[in-house]
Amino acid sequence: MAEQRMLKFVQVERGMPEKRDADARKEDFREIYAEYAEAKAEEQASRCSQCGVPYCQTHCPLHNNIPDWLRLTAEGRLREAYEVSQATNTFPEICGRICPQDRLCEGNCVIEQSGHGTVTIGAVEKYITDTAWEEGWVQPIKPPAERPESVGIIGAGPGGLAAADVLRRAGVQVTVYDRYDRAGGLMTYGIPGFKLDKDVVMRRNDQLEQGGVTLKLNCNVGEDIFFDDIRAAHDAVIIATGVYKSRDLELHGSTAQGVEKAIDFLTASNRKSFGDAVEDFDSGRMNAEGKRVVVIGGGDTAMDCVRTSVRQGATSVKCLYRRDRANMPGSQREVANAEEEGVIFEWLSAPKGFVTDLADSSEGAAKVTGVTVQKMRLGAPDATGRQAPELIEGSDYVEEADLVIKALGFEPEDLPTLWDQPELQVTRWGTIKAEFTTGATALDGVYAVGDIVRGASLVVWAIRDGRDCAEAILERLNSSAVVAAE
Ligand code: FAD
Ligand code: SF4
Ligand code: SF4
Repeated sequence: MAEQRMLKFVQVERGMPEKRDADARKEDFREIYAEYAEAKAEEQASRCSQCGVPYCQTHCPLHNNIPDWLRLTAEGRLREAYEVSQATNTFPEICGRICPQDRLCEGNCVIEQSGHGTVTIGAVEKYITDTAWEEGWVQPIKPPAERPESVGIIGAGPGGLAAADVLRRAGVQVTVYDRYDRAGGLMTYGIPGFKLDKDVVMRRNDQLEQGGVTLKLNCNVGEDIFFDDIRAAHDAVIIATGVYKSRDLELHGSTAQGVEKAIDFLTASNRKSFGDAVEDFDSGRMNAEGKRVVVIGGGDTAMDCVRTSVRQGATSVKCLYRRDRANMPGSQREVANAEEEGVIFEWLSAPKGFVTDLADSSEGAAKVTGVTVQKMRLGAPDATGRQAPELIEGSDYVEEADLVIKALGFEPEDLPTLWDQPELQVTRWGTIKAEFTTGATALDGVYAVGDIVRGASLVVWAIRDGRDCAEAILERLNSSAVVAAE
């Protein structure tokens, strides 16, 4: 019976949920994809061929049981689909929205390889859990029994929160410390609402608090509280602080007014979406309205900056990237969305310096009026196999700009120094050295997960790390409890 509902990939074409028209979506920060209607979700799930060896599952960092929840969805058994889906993923509706599926689960779907278009795994995953929220199936955590042990987690991003969820379900007392006023990490203040609606993140924060997770917000570890005090207060500590130091350009004019860091620009915009008073935005500094905007970079952060600028009412938005389209790190899906919204990509273009004008400035500092751009070509592959960009002499020109946003990636902060923990070992990139499967660091009882270990990565990998680390801590707590009882 079940099989008859599946394997429909020959009769049923791949269909994503409806995408809002580019002109309409430029007017607001709402998500751009609508939800599937029930029949459509069932139909799309029924395209799965129920592979004996599901490559989709192998390439999902959480090894989600994708074929099973697709089959249950196709059969209309949504509550069961939700139970299966949430068993391996702390935030399925978030991953369904923002995972780069083309590089992970969907990119490895066999029916794509047979030319029929991949199963829309992410959109179905989102549909299942959004429905679960609507139906009231997502409930606060109720541990079977309380345990006396406590774990302190520094950082309320997806890595920290995923660990908090697993530990709390086992009855452990969990306190999450974060320097921001809202939990969610980059899901709250980095990723814009048109990719991930803020309500979707906030309801998860509420669910965790209602389930007994204590969130200590506005608490900057190293300033408001010492790391040693957190370590003394808990049986184990997880560092999940992400990476926030923006890579910079050492070029003429790079500190001029109007040359801004991507994370500051996006945080200001996200705060505005919450209705907060944001001085830097309200003063016009971080607001692209009426400005010619140039964004430098080719990753997902750059894509988020160009599309945010469009929505703020920029008069023009250009993106400079030193390699070509095929060699950019950002998702092709997001580039296509940006182009639909009117963004112009200047491929093989790198900044040489910034043109500034003192007379144009209101605050006495030089103000940016343009970017000197130098054209590049791709040369021979370097040691990593990637073609290195080479300068084309004499090709410089000036791209006029009122706001330039630097989106060049992130590096870790120097935690051993900031927190006075010289024994906390780091790699040569400054990320924390941690055991691959458990997150254990050089300090006894201290673990680390997410971007602070991997470098800038993905939400789904932070969730995976958080869950694995929580399991390792539970194992340790259980074995200590047995020893204590003996
Ligand atoms: P974070 O999410 O960075 O959370 C770390 C938390 O630690 C923050 O809340 C921070 O305030 C807190 N913290 C840091 N230092 C301290 C301290 N000293 N004291 C107290 N608290 C502290 N990934 C995707 O999968 N899909 C996407 O579409 C996507 N888009 C992105 C867009 C942008 C603009 C950016 C910047 C990233 C994007 N990512 C995306 C990457 C993803 O957001 C990260 O990989 C993920 O959030 C990492 O999770 P984390 O828990 O390790 O850290
Ligand atoms: Fe795909 Fe991400 Fe969902 Fe895994 S978590 S199934 S990679 S969308
Ligand atoms: Fe279904 Fe594609 Fe996964 Fe096979 S690889 S189980 S067809 S989703």
